[in-house]
Amino acid sequence: MKAKPAPLSLEGTSPVAIPAELAAWLSAPKGAWIGGEPVFPKAEKFFTTVNPATGEPIARLAEAGREMVELAIATARRTFDAGTWSGQSYERRADSLRKLSQLVMEHRSALAILESLDTGKPIRESYEGDILRAASNFDFFASQNEAGVERVYESQGNRHVARREPLGVVALVTPWNLPLYLATWKIAPALLMGNSIVLKPSELTPLTAAYFAELTAEAGLPPGVFNVVHGFGEDSAGAFLVGHPGINAVSFTGETTTGKAIMKAASPHLTRVSFELGGKGALVVFADADWERAADEAVRAGFRNQGEICLACPRVYIEGAIYDRFKQRFLAGVERLRMGDPLNPQTTLGALISTDHRSKVLSYAEIAEREGHVLTGSAAVTKDLTSFFAPFVVEGLPANSRVNHEEVFGPLVTLNRFEREDEVIALVNDTPYGLSSSVWTGDRARAERVAAKIRIGLVWINCWFVRDLRVPFGGQKKSGIGREGGTHSLDFFSEWKSICFFGEGKGNSPC
Ligand code: NAD
Repeated sequence: MKAKPAPLSLEGTSPVAIPAELAAWLSAPKGAWIGGEPVFPKAEKFFTTVNPATGEPIARLAEAGREMVELAIATARRTFDAGTWSGQSYERRADSLRKLSQLVMEHRSALAILESLDTGKPIRESYEGDILRAASNFDFFASQNEAGVERVYESQGNRHVARREPLGVVALVTPWNLPLYLATWKIAPALLMGNSIVLKPSELTPLTAAYFAELTAEAGLPPGVFNVVHGFGEDSAGAFLVGHPGINAVSFTGETTTGKAIMKAASPHLTRVSFELGGKGALVVFADADWERAADEAVRAGFRNQGEICLACPRVYIEGAIYDRFKQRFLAGVERLRMGDPLNPQTTLGALISTDHRSKVLSYAEIAEREGHVLTGSAAVTKDLTSFFAPFVVEGLPANSRVNHEEVFGPLVTLNRFEREDEVIALVNDTPYGLSSSVWTGDRARAERVAAKIRIGLVWINCWFVRDLRVPFGGQKKSGIGREGGTHSLDFFSEWKSICFFGEGKGNSPC
């Protein structure tokens, strides 16, 4: 059993310390997790993760080649066929989910520290955001009684029974921005429905998945139900996994271009796919709104998690009559952000995920400097080994600027003035993405009109990022295929089977 770390205190101003047991855990190389134990490749092939805030190495992990991915899939299949998990009742599986939630909470400090080391995100966000949500993903799905419900239809004297069955072996491929949060959002429903899992976390942030794998043994999951392979995408663990004929479904969250590659790899086997992809969210503020609250929320929507959130709103559209007042308040909020050591509890803006990603954000900042008027921030950052990037706000960009159309995924926000409702609807819709938006107005009829006309999966009225986990979550256009959340996840991770019992039903009417 793993030692349980003490809860973190986030009151002070000094960085949280890495507990000795966690440091020892980090110093040992991590294998894949297959059949309930770590597995190392025969030919030693390792990669090292890097702390984006310091540029220093954190841990070494075994890169899974084709053979190891095949071993993980075969082990998952054997366990599935044995029925030790797939054949259990929903109630028993829900109990295991509750146990996993409890274990995540007991190891919350260790998981939060790992998440901040790997991603560069502020420790407060990991501890009070990501890891709490990871635990609640298990509790939430454990409470989804709909999982085991049978639907019965009777007509013409016959009885039709429809019930869900597990799919088999499912591949979960996850990104670096909310590592454990998003992995557990898929793991929990996949487990509840009785599937066996092979998870491939991002090569940039694999540590919470590696740690969590060890907790699954403690939770009593039968070995082989939950497996993890580490490695990269193309020509590595990710591609070997999603293109394998033994996979019954791929649930993927990541970039739109990766979604296309996965769809291609999965298509020869007609593998079921669910895609949560990129976004280019917009926050729209009409003059009749509580614009002061909108300005405060716009800071959060633009800069939370360094802007590395698919649901972020890097485009802010403000009606002309309140533009200047909104801008002042927004900039004052940006000024209050505290960029610094992710392990310091006072930090509100950590490091970007990597120097490569910082270069990408930088390239958009350079365009913004050429095309618009910069209000704060600069593209002239030092080219050091850390990945910090100060908040960047620009106004006056031309409507066709790439900065307003492409996903930047960093702390870069554009302020844009509009005068008419139809004008702003057209501007919001003018990207290939359609994931999220936040519309601020005091006019209920206008809220309905705008929500109906924007081609976006999630519309928040007078708020941002307010979630109910039963609500369908997902994007339109190039932001995804399918929906997650509540019964949508249960449907994805299961097959409906219908059985007709001749002569066993009531009623004579045809249907
Ligand atoms: P990414 O697509 O680069 O990588 C995601 C995962 O896919 C990683 O595990 C990676 O190794 C794997 N991968 C890459 N190429 C692959 C291939 N050919 N075959 C199989 N697997 C492959 O995404 P990222 O950079 O890690 O994450 C950032 C992106 O994720 C952004 O675009 C963001 O908008 C998106 N995102 C979307 C949501 C959502 O809910 N819609 C949530 C979070 C992040």
